[in-house]
Amino acid sequence: MDILTGMMIWAAEALTLAAVLFSRWLNGRSDRYFLSWSAGFVLHGVGVAFIGIRGQIPDFLSIEIANTMMLAGVGFWIAGMLQFDRRPVEGYVAVPALIWIAGMLLTDVRETFAYRVALYNMAAAVGYAVIVAIILRERAQSPKSRSMMAGFVGLYGLTNLTIAIVALWRQAETFETAPNGTVLFLPAAFCFMGSVMSCAKLLSERSEKHLKMLALTDPLTGVLNRRGLLETFDALRHADRQNRPMLALLHFDLDAFKQINDRYGHQAGDTVLMTYARIGQLPLRGRGFFGRMGGEEFAAVVRVADIAEAVGIAEAVRLTLKRQTIRSGDHRINVTVSTGIAMTDAGTADLDALLSAADRALYAAKENGRDRTAYADDPEIVIVPATDRISPEMPPSDATTDKQVATLTRLVSIGNR
Ligand code: GH3
Ligand code: MG
Ligand code: MG
Repeated sequence: MDILTGMMIWAAEALTLAAVLFSRWLNGRSDRYFLSWSAGFVLHGVGVAFIGIRGQIPDFLSIEIANTMMLAGVGFWIAGMLQFDRRPVEGYVAVPALIWIAGMLLTDVRETFAYRVALYNMAAAVGYAVIVAIILRERAQSPKSRSMMAGFVGLYGLTNLTIAIVALWRQAETFETAPNGTVLFLPAAFCFMGSVMSCAKLLSERSEKHLKMLALTDPLTGVLNRRGLLETFDALRHADRQNRPMLALLHFDLDAFKQINDRYGHQAGDTVLMTYARIGQLPLRGRGFFGRMGGEEFAAVVRVADIAEAVGIAEAVRLTLKRQTIRSGDHRINVTVSTGIAMTDAGTADLDALLSAADRALYAAKENGRDRTAYADDPEIVIVPATDRISPEMPPSDATTDKQVATLTRLVSIGNR
């Protein structure tokens, strides 16, 4: 295979990749790195083709323009890598092309083949070193694929550097005698393809992660869905053992939600659900996770010191929601929530048992007039006194007061044991 055929195959491959990346960008138009990488491959492919047909086109095209294009392509690859890592694209992406342009201002360089080869390859090596630095800066996700890609890009940059050194040393005068035309062509092609493959792996790992995240998220409210929430259970069992030895499950169910839909419409119902999802996770403050179990039912799994802490969270949610007037169009909606709580020692926590105990407590909260919190204290269910319900206009009877005091005393004693 002669150099021309090799270069044409290389150019065709780069342009095919550019087309694939471009169509990937068209599909959604949100991931800008596809567009940048595509532009990088167009410039690279056309540049390689121009060099391949040197002699048949003006020298200006096959030397000045072709090399500038290829180095600008490296700049686009750098930009794409920055965009992939959600970092701003900065001016230094133009450095490889600028090194070339600056070098070509020198007559000696412009007129000596070996110097031009060395200049181009050094500028490219600088660009690849920048890419390696960007790849390795972000190591939290896909560390293996990133190391692999950094390895291939780094090796590719090293072949550029070797070509530069050998060109200067041998003072090559034509492409046929230049080092990249002979021994280094295959290793360079290998590293180039390796870089592309490992980048594809990085991309597929990201989209896999995105899909997994979508599968665990509720699309309406953006909080975890049932599956997502239940998946946190195990992680939470092993967290913060010392200060918060207990694991509590809070099962929230909005009161008379069907009426809200019936009276204000489904869209207003959705707004209520979204508002609730925001309020419901406020008092958690890193102690656990919150999610939507389905319909108008939500749940939180939290690590707590005692039942009083769990009740505190539920009551904070209940009161915050109750005081909030939710607006949807012209409607002003007030809504309340009932909560059932179950708690157990984190080390021996059984999800099914917790779910069913919390469900029983929730049922009792509904039975006791809704807008309530109740917790399962096996085998009994304790209704938490709703202090906000005692108003001066309607003083509670002695019997209710006695009952409330008894429950509060019990709550404190359970908390202390
Ligand atoms: P209770 O106080 O006993 O909990 O009564 P409820 O009306 O809240 O309970 P019920 O289970 O009878 O009604 C739940 C309603 O939630 C019925 C269903 O149409 C509505 N719903 C479920 N999912 C959605 C949703 O995504 N959006 C809206 N707007 N409504 C939903
Ligand atoms: Mg329900
Ligand atoms: Mg309900």
